[in-house]
Amino acid sequence: MNNNTLSTKFLGCDSNFSAADIVIFGAPYDGTTTFRPGTRFAPSTMRMESIGIETYSPYFDADITDFQVNDYGDLDLPFGSPEKALKMISETSKIIFDSNKKPLMIGGEHLVSLPVIEQAVKKYPDLKIIHFDAHTDLREDYLGEALSHSSVIRRAWDILGDNRIWQFGIRSGTREEFYWSREGHTNMCLYNFDTLCTAVKEISDSPVYLTIDLDVLDPSNFPGTGTPEAGGVSFTDLITALKTVSELNIIGADIVELSPHYDHSGASTALACKVLREVIITMSK
Ligand code: MN
Ligand code: MN
Repeated sequence: MNNNTLSTKFLGCDSNFSAADIVIFGAPYDGTTTFRPGTRFAPSTMRMESIGIETYSPYFDADITDFQVNDYGDLDLPFGSPEKALKMISETSKIIFDSNKKPLMIGGEHLVSLPVIEQAVKKYPDLKIIHFDAHTDLREDYLGEALSHSSVIRRAWDILGDNRIWQFGIRSGTREEFYWSREGHTNMCLYNFDTLCTAVKEISDSPVYLTIDLDVLDPSNFPGTGTPEAGGVSFTDLITALKTVSELNIIGADIVELSPHYDHSGASTALACKVLREVIITMSK
């Protein structure tokens, strides 16, 4: 834990650890980013900027101060060694799951989701994954590297197997990734959330891990990311999707791939803060 960088807590997340139901922590790692890095700055920037949003969500008619949320701070992750960074994230997730709390991680690049998913499956063997992203993230490897943000969902599949992963908003990947998914390995909804209601019915009471790669949003809504992809969903679409998944038993979640410095207006960071607020409420329903 690096308390030096923790000048403030995320807005409204003042519970102490033992009282909390949800534990927020930052995983500021971008070591395997394939294009433009910078997501390591997301957790600290979001904390600072969260002061600009309200704790009340008119979308859910709920206030995050209604819930017990602890901000655990940022992990002091080493650069250059994905294995070491992932191990630290894994240990932190284990502490949170072992305490019967729900982790809500702020990335970082998407690879940081993997160790949390690994720990989640240990605690919840029947785990399902809901994945919002512009990208398939199903590569077997990236330039020979199996641990990459572009292969994170494939690595999750290595653990979970077929019919446990639902992907939404997808519009970029290799031909092989799309074909591989269609062989029945993952349930993929292209471009939008059209089949989300059906998926929610199918998943029903199973424990769910929700991983949100913010580049699922259209770059006009969210330019602050390393690999922007045209043709994405709107913020309103994302809120509607969160309302749909709020019926599920979400046992952990993350939001990843904000790269604050690519949007000097600060609007992308403000959006990410708002999404984090809505995810807290989604997990508390
Ligand atoms: Mn991703
Ligand atoms: Mn992506």
